[in-house]
Amino acid sequence: MALEWMEAVLTKIENETPNTKRFYFEIPSLEKFDFIPGQFVTLDLPIHEQKNKRWRSYSIASEPNGTNTFELVIVLLETGLGTPYLFNEAKVGTKITLRGPQGVFVLPKNFEHDVYFICTGTGIAPFRSMIRYIHEHKIAHNTIHLIFGCRKFEDGLYIDELKEIEKAETILRTHSIENEDGLIKIQEETKNLNKKLLLSSNNDLKQKSEIDDYAKNLFKKILELESETRGFNQEKISQLKQKIEQEKEAERQNNQEIGSVSATSILAENHIKKIQEKISELKKVRKYILKLEKIEKNIFNKKGSVSISLRSWALNSISLKASEYLSYLNTKIQRISLSEKDITCYSNTEVLDLKSLSGGESVIIALALRLGMSSLLGASNLNLMILDEPTTHLDVERKKSLVRVLSQLSEISNSQAPMQFLIITHDAEIFENSNVEQIYKFESNEEGTKVIAL
Ligand SMILES: Cc1cc2nc3c(=O)[nH]c(=O)nc-3n(C[C@H](O)[C@H](O)[C@H](O)COP(=O)(O)OP(=O)(O)OC[C@H]3O[C@@H](n4cnc5c(N)ncnc54)[C@H](O)[C@@H]3O)c2cc1C
Repeated sequence: MALEWMEAVLTKIENETPNTKRFYFEIPSLEKFDFIPGQFVTLDLPIHEQKNKRWRSYSIASEPNGTNTFELVIVLLETGLGTPYLFNEAKVGTKITLRGPQGVFVLPKNFEHDVYFICTGTGIAPFRSMIRYIHEHKIAHNTIHLIFGCRKFEDGLYIDELKEIEKAETILRTHSIENEDGLIKIQEETKNLNKKLLLSSNNDLKQKSEIDDYAKNLFKKILELESETRGFNQEKISQLKQKIEQEKEAERQNNQEIGSVSATSILAENHIKKIQEKISELKKVRKYILKLEKIEKNIFNKKGSVSISLRSWALNSISLKASEYLSYLNTKIQRISLSEKDITCYSNTEVLDLKSLSGGESVIIALALRLGMSSLLGASNLNLMILDEPTTHLDVERKKSLVRVLSQLSEISNSQAPMQFLIITHDAEIFENSNVEQIYKFESNEEGTKVIAL
């Protein structure tokens, strides 16, 4: 026979896990909603125009309790139609059409063996209904094993409640309470024992312990505790506690110090690392400086072998070149020799005393030496020489000698190119009757510098 559709009202909605809710219903048209644990109801949800596309079935998670209420536990399926409606739109007071109870997934009338309930997620709903029903109605049973699968512990459903039932069941089994009558009997016995206990003296523990096995056991434990705590000294314990606290505090301070020392040590280590880097750089610089000093000592030092030999070579070259020029100038000075400290002049036959030389000869030596030096510096291609004020500090006689020497030098015919002199002087007149090619006079006036060929 087809079941009739009824109207149910949502009375409460509770969050169970992040994506599971408990929905409580009441069917106002019924006084009592009768069903067998394990059965389900079908809801007609306003989610589609077509009737059969609106129907969603849910196992009843509560046990029949003689009222017109029941509970469903539903997991949200975001891609679905029905559960998003129940989670997001249905509210307390919402009316929902349903039919039921339906289904034959129920417990057998008698079960002598152990029972295994295996489920995941909201699949626990029919088993919760059965377990609560068995427990509430003290239905005789062997061990019930509930195997519940979930990804995370917090996804577990009704865990605390079922554990409570398990505890209660263990107590019932311990006291061999098989049904409600057994429970009532135990309650009466307990009342009588309580009365007896009240009557007996409070100090007479031994006598009280004879009441039942539980009390005997308790008394035994008390005796054990007494023997274990014999000699207990509260003051000593307090002192020890205080000491422990002090040591804990000292340890805490030590840890703090260790922390700050290790922070300082890290800073110091970094500092040392930087200093070591600098030291290694400085070592390189020192090595470099030592090499430079060695180079300076051996090469650039005035007294070093390189400098001495270079000077000796230069003096020799200047002497040779100066002597070469002297030989063109028809004087008695044939050769000139320079050393670090002296100038020595030679005639054909003897060493000449410098003080005995005439003014003209001195000018000739000075010029020959300059020419020798210039030749060395100019890599021997000397054919032009600029003399800036060569007459300064010369007396009239020596000025004349200078003109003669310059004339002789410019006439030297065996050199590859004729020797030329560019002379800058304020004594232009001394060159007037010599073989100077051209004399230019530079005059400065308000308009600028005027050059006149004399
Ligand atoms: C006897 C029984 C008891 C049940 N008990 C419970 C219970 O206690 N708790 C519980 O949470 N659930 C229970 N269910 C499951 C419940 O009936 C729903 O199936 C569930 O809630 C999902 O419904 P929904 O409307 O959200 O998803 P639906 O809209 O039915 O969608 C389900 C899936 O199908 C897909 N889908 C829908 N339409 C189409 C389409 N046209 N083409 C392709 N894919 C589509 C959706 O994307 C989704 O992934 C029970 C089912 C039965 C049969």
